[in-house]
Amino acid sequence: MGVMDQLGLFGASAPAAMVLGSAPQDPPAIDLAHPEPFVTWLRGQLGKPVRLVFTNNRTTFVSAREHHGLMHLRLHQAFAKAGPREVEAILGYLKGGNREANRCLGEFIAGCERPVRTPRSAVVTAGRCHDLAVLATEVNVTYFHGSCTAQVTWGVAAKRRRRRTIQLGCFVADENLIRIHPCLDQAFVPRPYVAWVIFHEMLHEVLGVARSKRRRRVHPPEFGAMEATFPGYQALKAWEVENLPRLMNYRHSR
Ligand SMILES: [Zn+2]
Repeated sequence: MGVMDQLGLFGASAPAAMVLGSAPQDPPAIDLAHPEPFVTWLRGQLGKPVRLVFTNNRTTFVSAREHHGLMHLRLHQAFAKAGPREVEAILGYLKGGNREANRCLGEFIAGCERPVRTPRSAVVTAGRCHDLAVLATEVNVTYFHGSCTAQVTWGVAAKRRRRRTIQLGCFVADENLIRIHPCLDQAFVPRPYVAWVIFHEMLHEVLGVARSKRRRRVHPPEFGAMEATFPGYQALKAWEVENLPRLMNYRHSR
């Protein structure tokens, strides 16, 4: 497969019941925490290395792209519930697709309940200095073709006297929500810096979570590379280093 090939949630037509012959040996189950047996099995069957990323994308359940002999496979986390039939179908899909495999995957995807991912807390976009609704839309349209679906909200600062670390933003996959620390809603914080923090969190939604061996890789190398494509990256990094102490001293007032 040379080009990006996707099976969308609504792309598959209503699948009919199907029967697959039982394989002599069942393929391994897909374990989100320990996907190595599955990846090793795929590699053996395909005869090429496979890089697997689990996603929580709302509409695309499986996509694959071959690049320099490496198969990049993105699978929705829902495939953790897949049986041997579906695992075989993923292989068929990676081999270029066949009716049975596509039908089986379509059936599985159609049967997946779409997770209810509405924010549990109120979404607040208006700030004193920065409007997250405006910024998020700008970032989403400029860098992601509007494909980010997460809502963006100001978070609530914990009442701590002293901080050792501060999390300026976070992406909560379960709620499909990006939270931005209220310390960024201050006059001395440049607008492009807030935009860049939003950009970072949107990358988390778009890239999903890669896992290598047993470790969850929140920021794999390609994440850093993509993050650095943001205009003015070096200057924003420098601003961050210089102003982090001031941001950490933020006190929630009201
Ligand atoms: Zn991050």
